[in-house]
Amino acid sequence: MSARMPGPVVPIPAAMKPNPPSKYLAGYPLALVEQVQHLIDQDRLAGVLLRKYPVAHGVRTDKALYEYVSEIKSAYLRNAGPLSKVMFDGKLQIIQHALGMHTNIARVQGAKLQAKREVRVASVFKDMPEAFLRMIAVHELAHFKERDHGKAFYQLCLHMEPAYHQLEFDVRAYLSHLDATGQSLWSIST
Ligand SMILES: [Zn+2]
Repeated sequence: MSARMPGPVVPIPAAMKPNPPSKYLAGYPLALVEQVQHLIDQDRLAGVLLRKYPVAHGVRTDKALYEYVSEIKSAYLRNAGPLSKVMFDGKLQIIQHALGMHTNIARVQGAKLQAKREVRVASVFKDMPEAFLRMIAVHELAHFKERDHGKAFYQLCLHMEPAYHQLEFDVRAYLSHLDATGQSLWSIST
C-alpha cells in the first residue's frame, strides 16, 4: 500500500506506542541509543541485562555502603581525605545526563562540605548488580578530585574501574528500561 493513499486512521493503543528516546542516553551515538530503544520496545532489554548481570549486590544499609565505598577509596584514592558520610538517598533524583549527581556536585562545591567528603547514592542503586553500584561509587569518588565530567575525571574513573564506560552505559540503559516499563529487575524484598 502506497504511503500517499489516504486510509482510515488507526489509533495505536498506548501500550504499543514506541517509547520516546531515553533522556538517560542523550549524548551517546544514535545507533547505540536506537539499539537500546529497540530492545526496550521489544521487551528484550530486561533479558539482555539479566543475562549479563544475574544477581543483585548485597549492600543493603548505609553502613554497608560506607564500607563498600571506603574499600574502593582506600585502594585508589587514599590521600583524598577521609570519608565522613556515605548513604543511600531516597530523595536524590536521577537527573538525565548527570545520573542525579548534580545535587552531590552542588554539595561538594561548598568549601565546608567539600571537607566533609559525603557520598550520596540514589536509592535506585540499592536494587542493582554489584557492577552498577561500583560504577556509581567510582563516579562519586572521582568527584572528590575532579568536579567536572572532563577528561581527567573519566581517566580517574577508568583507573578505579577499567570497564567504567561500559558500566555507565549499561546503567543508563537500565534506567531507560525502568523509565519506560517501571519494572525493576533486581528488586530484593527486605
Ligand atoms: Zn558526576
